[in-house]
Amino acid sequence: MNIVAVINQKGGVGKTTTTVNLGAAMAALGKRVLLIDLDPQANLGTHVGVDPQDPTPTIYDVLVRGVALDQALRPTAEPRLSVVPSNLDLSAAEMELVSMVGRETLLRDSLEVLETSHPGEFEYVLLDCPPSLGVLTINALSAARQVLVPLQAEFFALQGMAKLTEIISLVQRRLNARLELAGIVACKVDRRTKLTQEVMDEVVRFFPNRLMKTIIRPNVKLAEAPSFGQSVLLYAPDSNGATDYRQLAREFLKMPEEVSEEQSAEASA
Ligand code: ADP
Ligand code: MG
Repeated sequence: MNIVAVINQKGGVGKTTTTVNLGAAMAALGKRVLLIDLDPQANLGTHVGVDPQDPTPTIYDVLVRGVALDQALRPTAEPRLSVVPSNLDLSAAEMELVSMVGRETLLRDSLEVLETSHPGEFEYVLLDCPPSLGVLTINALSAARQVLVPLQAEFFALQGMAKLTEIISLVQRRLNARLELAGIVACKVDRRTKLTQEVMDEVVRFFPNRLMKTIIRPNVKLAEAPSFGQSVLLYAPDSNGATDYRQLAREFLKMPEEVSEEQSAEASA
């Protein structure tokens, strides 16, 4: 089970969009994928069509009430793609867990139990983190092997990265020596602007070999898909958004690139 934490303490940078669409693209490539929402905003569940009235346990019940993770699993409309949603209750978890022994590793422990009870059922687990560096994000970093950071090419992007890498090294030292920064993915980015180029150059300078080659372009279909409860691959398979996330999945999985007609047309134009 390859566990990937999708993290950035800033809101609105593309964490949930990346978790859902990268996960859906991996599933479309044949991987068995589980998405877990760790954000009390609960956008991830909505994005993949979870009914908020469904009484199935959520990640809150898993972390705070000790319910087994397999009790909280739900299928999605997409083959090989499952989800454990969150809900607003999770916003209280931070406080409710304060006095709990081992609170930083609750998610890791639950995932270990899942791996034992359902061996090989999930090849990839993507963790959608809240926009903070609190106990929920620490749980994600303790459980994960890899960190993927969605980043917007804006002036302050790098400042946030300094704080984030500090937390990552703290978790590496104290809780999870195997954790690694797997990649930084530029989201909602138009690579033609000067600011974008400057920020991208900075990222490459500070994090050599970590910037993903795939760039996620601004695409309205990515913003529309959540209200239909579908990934962009299902909602608008021919959109730039779907193309970009399919390419990101191939890059992340280290599979050979697939040159689409559209891209080769662009390249020759
Ligand atoms: P986060 O989870 O980091 O808070 P989201 O993934 O929810 O960020 O993205 C914030 C908003 O931006 C959402 O409304 C989402 O639909 C939209 N969005 C994300 N990526 C793109 C993109 N590449 N193009 C257009 N809109 C996007
Ligand atoms: Mg989000």
